[in-house]
Amino acid sequence: MAANLTTRSQETADVLGPLMENMTWPEVVEAAEQGYVPILVVGATEQHGPHLPLGSDWILPLEIAVGVAKRLKVLVPPPLMYGFKSKALSGGGQRFPGTASLRGSTLTALVHDVVSELARSGFRHLVVMNWHMENVNFIWEGIDLAREDGGLRDATVMSMDDPERAFDMREIETWMFDDGFPGWDVEHASTVETSLMLAVRPELVRNDLIADDAAEDHPWYDIVPEPERHVAKSGVLANASQASVEKGERYFEMIVTEVAAAIEREFGTERHG
Ligand SMILES: [Zn+2]
Repeated sequence: MAANLTTRSQETADVLGPLMENMTWPEVVEAAEQGYVPILVVGATEQHGPHLPLGSDWILPLEIAVGVAKRLKVLVPPPLMYGFKSKALSGGGQRFPGTASLRGSTLTALVHDVVSELARSGFRHLVVMNWHMENVNFIWEGIDLAREDGGLRDATVMSMDDPERAFDMREIETWMFDDGFPGWDVEHASTVETSLMLAVRPELVRNDLIADDAAEDHPWYDIVPEPERHVAKSGVLANASQASVEKGERYFEMIVTEVAAAIEREFGTERHG
């Protein structure tokens, strides 16, 4: 991905990063001094139906972070590609081959350590951007433990539970959902994620396998172990067939704009000249 991104080794480059794995340590020092803000992406390795890749939950937010970095002084550290376990009624559950999850304490420790290391590198402002909803409180715990034990130093962290949810869905459902918004718990591998992937990484979408599905029964509570009737057979939890490139491009642009605006508002991060 992002093969055309600017790197420091190019003579004309006046923008640092954005992918931190391609930077050197002196460039990190320079970036921190210039007020660059790292966006640490946290996702999951989780089934996304027969048509989307296992990495959807980190590939999509990584593309968004790179999109933000084209506008603002933002860097993108290597993402956390694994996340907390999947629940049957919101992610399909743990029984799908390929889904590989962390226990909550592991995710908390990962976030705690990486956020502390970014703060030690000299960044005064950090963003943690999550995409996989089951991660939310473990990420918060990792950030808060870093605050408690001094790992944050004098850095401030903005935690984004899910930029996919930055908008009031009543305002976008008229053009996003043919039959109304089904709810975020079942918007898994469905209209939104499929549209976004069609827009940013179309080569990863198996177009001929896009199909709607749902669990036979979707109550408001969970059962452990999950009964068969709570697991959507294909791993798609709603209407993937309503996805389109146009919806994805429009929503991607909205999310990038909203994330950039939030970072500018809170941290005063500069735009690229
Ligand atoms: Zn997802």
